[in-house]
Amino acid sequence: MCIFCKIVAGELPAYKIYEDEKTLAFLDIKPTTSGHALVITKAHYANLEEISEVDLTALALATKKVGALLKEKLNVPGYNMSSNNDPVAGQEIPHIHFHLIPRHEGDGLVNWPKIEYGPGDMEEIAKKLTA
Ligand code: AMP
Ligand code: ZN
Repeated sequence: MCIFCKIVAGELPAYKIYEDEKTLAFLDIKPTTSGHALVITKAHYANLEEISEVDLTALALATKKVGALLKEKLNVPGYNMSSNNDPVAGQEIPHIHFHLIPRHEGDGLVNWPKIEYGPGDMEEIAKKLTA
């Protein structure tokens, strides 16, 4: 059983902050910023390709609610919502989860770097994706 399934089953402790029939949210044990929350489905799915449409909908709706909780209860002005999909993207726990990372003015966090496309690259990629 994975770590997050153990939290769902009550076999590992967590600071739970939201729960409904299909989802659970709790504080990340090693936060990027204070209040960093993880929203998960109670059912185990490795990633976005595996998750059912019903559970993905529940996960998205729970994430929206937890985001609102952070804003209302912790006076968070904004947050990053992200998901590391697969190990190459930095996914350490193989149970789908959305990160909610509170952001504050001047918190010093840097968002994703950006690169430049070479000539024709955008067209080629768009063609591959729509072929
Ligand atoms: P990821 O790298 O996207 O798979 O993120 C996994 C996250 O789970 C990391 O930010 C960890 O700090 C967090 N984490 C790992 N174990 C626990 C735990 N037992 N309770 C709460 N958060 C955890
Ligand atoms: Zn799991």
